[in-house]
Amino acid sequence: SLQQPEGDQLPRYVRVNTLKTTVKDAIDYFKREGFSYLGQAYRLDDLNLKGKSFVGDLHLSDLLVFSPKTDFHDHNLYKAGHIILQDKGLWTCPCTTVYLISQQASSHVLDACAAPGNKTSHLAAIMKNKGRLFAFDLDAKRLSTMSTLLLRAGVTCQQLANQDFLKVDPDGPQYKDVEYILLDPSCSGSGMVCLRDEASPSQKEQDKRRLQALAAFQLHCLNHALRFPRLQRVVYSTCSIHTEENEQVVAACLLQNTGFRLVPLLLQWPERGLAPLTKCLRASTTKTLTHGFFVALLERHTAQSLEEQ
Ligand code: SAM
Repeated sequence: SLQQPEGDQLPRYVRVNTLKTTVKDAIDYFKREGFSYLGQAYRLDDLNLKGKSFVGDLHLSDLLVFSPKTDFHDHNLYKAGHIILQDKGLWTCPCTTVYLISQQASSHVLDACAAPGNKTSHLAAIMKNKGRLFAFDLDAKRLSTMSTLLLRAGVTCQQLANQDFLKVDPDGPQYKDVEYILLDPSCSGSGMVCLRDEASPSQKEQDKRRLQALAAFQLHCLNHALRFPRLQRVVYSTCSIHTEENEQVVAACLLQNTGFRLVPLLLQWPERGLAPLTKCLRASTTKTLTHGFFVALLERHTAQSLEEQ
């Protein structure tokens, strides 16, 4: 049977920031520093790396994977914004999430709960800094961290606002062309291996209430996202392993918004949402060698079926 890896035993994921460099140049740089590039990974097991070897990720083309103990926080490429790291190397979730948004340049995209901006910077890279990227966060301090991160990453197409997404008016004239929304709301973080611990019974009761409150907030945000008049697709993601924050939020939203449906995600991805929501993705330390997370992609289908008539 599979052993459950601890957080510090997971591979380190490094995203190459294509606004500033190319994957090839980054690979060459690491090779010159004595790292050995083993090529593109084909199986999950190829991500079990040792020492100074590294590979290209299985699913995501601008992601490089290093061995668990690698730390690039002092690295030149990181300081220059050529590579992006997230705490504890957690990158697969943002990468998976933003890849699913249209790659068309000059789209209007909204990042609803954006700070500290890892996914925002990735969206900007995919958009090649064209179009418009509205990003909101309620927390002013996190938003200021985000400004620094975006500056270092060379992001220029963003419009940041310290604002409650739930109070953003979907009918505001500036949002009339928003077609894609990324919703990565506050969640329990239960997928982060480092945050898991054994809870006492009273703690469990408290956790249950917290989970209910979070799920209600997440559903509220998702319903709000679907109110943008030109919206085509919304990505919903959490770093939670609780079905209350994942499949149950999405299922409730689909029941309330019959003009939207789920889009099947990365069919080669090994871990799926719990039935019947198998079009969604899940991730875990054992099956994908990442922290736990969940991603769903919803798209509008009424406009299309009207056109087809
Ligand atoms: N997407 C981010 C990234 O990849 O770096 C991480 C987002 S974090 C999971 C959730 C964020 O939602 C927090 O920064 C929190 O301050 C923000 N938030 C919570 N409630 C919000 C609201 N009502 N409107 C906007 N942002 C909110």
